[in-house]
Amino acid sequence: MVKKGYRLKAEDIVLLLLPLVFLLLFLIRPQNREISNLPAPEEGQREPAITLTVYNPGESLIVEAKLEEYIVGVVAAEMPPYFDLEALKAQAVAARTYALGRVEGYYGSTASHFGADICTDPGHCQAWISKERFIEVYGDEADWARIEKAVNDTRNIVITYGDVLINPLFHSNSGGATEDAREVWAISESVPYLKSVFGPDESGYPDYEKIQLYSWDEITRKVKTKYPDAKLSQNVDMEIEAYTVSGRVDFIRIGSVSMSGTEFRELFGLRSTKISLSFPSDKSVEITTFGYGHGVGMSQCGADALAREGYGYEDILKFYYSGTEVEEIAQ
Ligand SMILES: [Zn+2]
Repeated sequence: MVKKGYRLKAEDIVLLLLPLVFLLLFLIRPQNREISNLPAPEEGQREPAITLTVYNPGESLIVEAKLEEYIVGVVAAEMPPYFDLEALKAQAVAARTYALGRVEGYYGSTASHFGADICTDPGHCQAWISKERFIEVYGDEADWARIEKAVNDTRNIVITYGDVLINPLFHSNSGGATEDAREVWAISESVPYLKSVFGPDESGYPDYEKIQLYSWDEITRKVKTKYPDAKLSQNVDMEIEAYTVSGRVDFIRIGSVSMSGTEFRELFGLRSTKISLSFPSDKSVEITTFGYGHGVGMSQCGADALAREGYGYEDILKFYYSGTEVEEIAQ
């Protein structure tokens, strides 16, 4: 407190103004505060050179990579190179969002990374491929150049919800409708941008449909591995009990056992939980799956189908991630 009649010295004024300065700094801090502590610009560069450390479990190697160069390798590994350029751009933005989210420590444990920000295991983070390997296996120089263009054209663009980077989950083919995250994982709170949406026709893509024939014996054996006490009759006795809003199996009954669609998919190694059953005989079951993957977030085939209908990458991303913004990283 300043007593009445006390003459303020310059130091006192500074001390008095400090709280105000801090308050102002707090109020005008960047909106994307979660990503505001990225490296400062290097001398002579207009934009910050964002780097990250990438752990490659296949080679037991951690390397430092420039974000935008790393993203090219992710898109090359995660999406077919012949997909529409706008779909490749949507994948690039999703990959960048995920990578920066990992740098910020989102999306769970990174204990398996040996200190790196992200890994190249698609089962844990996201896949990545070197240019040399890509040209050996998937495409040519022109394909790589298209992917580079998709990344360059979306430089620094990310997806946010409420000013926070989203978890941009995606899958290969939705079978026509994506799934709500809560139907797939036991999460307590619903994720507002991972809701079920009905999308374009994806039946023209190779991953759309697969038919597998099982004998009833095979099915009962598999069920017994997980439920040894299950009561199963001699003849086929199974039915889909309930569907989710996207038309996937919510619960399925096999003899005395009722299990979730996700559990059924895992047990039988199926492509998806969008399933139809038919019974060619008393002793056999035909399982047809539609789509490929968990069905949550962006469908890659759907993104390509939308792009071919004229959607730009921003519209594709906003279509699959409800209520999000597609914007530049706050510098
Ligand atoms: Zn990882």
